[in-house]
Amino acid sequence: MKNCNTTELNGKPLKEDLARRLGVPVLIANDANCFALAETHLGAVRQHHPDAKVVFGIIMGTGVGAGIVINGQILNGHHGIAGEWGHNVLLPDGPECYCGKRGCVETLISGPALEAWYEAKAKRHLSLARIAAATAHDHVARLTLDRLHLLFGQALANVVNILDPDVIVIGGGVGNVQSLYRAGRETLLPFLFNPRFATPMIAPALGDSAGVFGAALLARGTFREAQLS
Ligand SMILES: [Zn+2]
Repeated sequence: MKNCNTTELNGKPLKEDLARRLGVPVLIANDANCFALAETHLGAVRQHHPDAKVVFGIIMGTGVGAGIVINGQILNGHHGIAGEWGHNVLLPDGPECYCGKRGCVETLISGPALEAWYEAKAKRHLSLARIAAATAHDHVARLTLDRLHLLFGQALANVVNILDPDVIVIGGGVGNVQSLYRAGRETLLPFLFNPRFATPMIAPALGDSAGVFGAALLARGTFREAQLS
């Protein structure tokens, strides 16, 4: 294991330990990769954009991650870190991240990061859902959402400039903030290397089960290939 936010697992052979304990072959994959694969083959992408060749599947919740699916297959990358936009540095002087850097996207626009920012200014704790619902009468809530929109747009523009996906699926608790689809989208354009931003941004269709379906798809594909060879 590496780069895991459950940092106790890093450097440990979790897959081998599980396989030995369970007595069956085990496959381990990043939850965002599983999410992206499931939404591509079984969920929102299949429903709304079945011809999409490049899918960027985001999970924004307690952490920020994503999976990249190209022509129906997960892109793992040379180091296995493809899609890890949550650890792109946005503010070099920003909050410390468990990964050892400062100001990673995840330290700024994950649910806990936004709730902590609100709490530091408003001197009370609210869930992000309640912050998002309070913007009409709560000035700090408004500022928190403005911060989310701006940093989301900037962070996602960095991705689109490189990957230019055919569709973006936005999952996770922060992804439930509906203004991401409007105000969040609009803040992307000033950072984009293009005069317009036309990429569809869609909500997931599989709910909290997407990761499980994706893991099953990965296992089916991998173990079927092993049987055939
Ligand atoms: Zn980080």
